Amino acid sequence: MIVVQMNERSSSLDIARVCDHQERRGMQIRVVPGRRGSTIVCEGHSETDLELKKLPSVKAVSRTNCSYPLASLEVSGPQGPVQIGRGLSIGGGSVAVMAGPCSVESREQLLETARGVASSGASVLRGGAFKPRSNPYSFQGLGSQGIDLLLEAREDTGLPIVTEVMSPEDVEWLAPQVDILQVGTRSMQNFPLLKALGRVDTPVLLKRGMASTVDEWLQAAEYILAGGNSRVILCERGIRSFDKSTRNTLDLSIVPLVKSLTHLPVVVDPSHATGKRHLVAPMSLAALAAGADGLIVEVHSRPEEALCDGPQSLDLPAFDGLMNRISRLMEALEPEESEWGLKVAM
Ligand code: PEP
Ligand code: MN
Repeated sequence: MIVVQMNERSSSLDIARVCDHQERRGMQIRVVPGRRGSTIVCEGHSETDLELKKLPSVKAVSRTNCSYPLASLEVSGPQGPVQIGRGLSIGGGSVAVMAGPCSVESREQLLETARGVASSGASVLRGGAFKPRSNPYSFQGLGSQGIDLLLEAREDTGLPIVTEVMSPEDVEWLAPQVDILQVGTRSMQNFPLLKALGRVDTPVLLKRGMASTVDEWLQAAEYILAGGNSRVILCERGIRSFDKSTRNTLDLSIVPLVKSLTHLPVVVDPSHATGKRHLVAPMSLAALAAGADGLIVEVHSRPEEALCDGPQSLDLPAFDGLMNRISRLMEALEPEESEWGLKVAM
């Protein structure tokens, strides 16, 4: 595979010239527009082409066997944080904490929880409206009515919102409304969904499939990037293992591993990873100490009444306590660990 990085000011004619040149050499090409110039990914066998490197419109030409060149740190270099609306960025060295209920259940439940997490310092409100439930008789979410409630909660608290999208057909109408679209673990390899997310520019929180390798996860991210959406945030949420004493097994070592492989920010979901409320705080702190760019935590104003994932949801005082511990941890880590990109965030 050959990856051609065009200059920021290259014209469509320059791009067409490179494409034409590569196609004549039997390569399949894909042009991916980018903020700092287009990238042309060329698949097929060819010698490194010295002629291409000489073109003034071409910034760099690299030959790689990497199956996710756009996500790769080595091939594409650092790309900076992912911008969420105007005020927030994820991956820039500060810690983003997304918090809220597993599911939007009612106006009262959502507003109470949203106000609580906002006052404790959360940076994003989470809440599922389209729920991927294992059982067809379980609560399936409020659908578009749940989205309306999330919009109201955003208006009320000023917090950006993240919510799951399950169907490719829902991407187009949801993308302009919400701040981050979540791809759940069960959808990580829903390729029509990933392609639809590549066609919008709303940031995407891509959860790792519960039985997916790091390579499959990064190739899933590549689908979105290859479609032209550069705003992808990865989320480790635990993988299946033999031991059912926790709901999943939090694969924490992949945080520094994935950060060495990709420029994309990585956040951790300690709630689905453990399934147990008392394990959420320790795993949150461990994830940040390992270099995660943020967390996504389930919080419910009345966890005992939750329609989904109550046993792993923190109540509001517990979330407030966690946020205090996070700020103290970040202060403690900052002096020695700043080369990991950790800074005092709150
Ligand atoms: C969720 O965030 O509520 C959820 C369903 O997560 P996951 O896809 O990780 O199971
Ligand atoms: Mn959940």
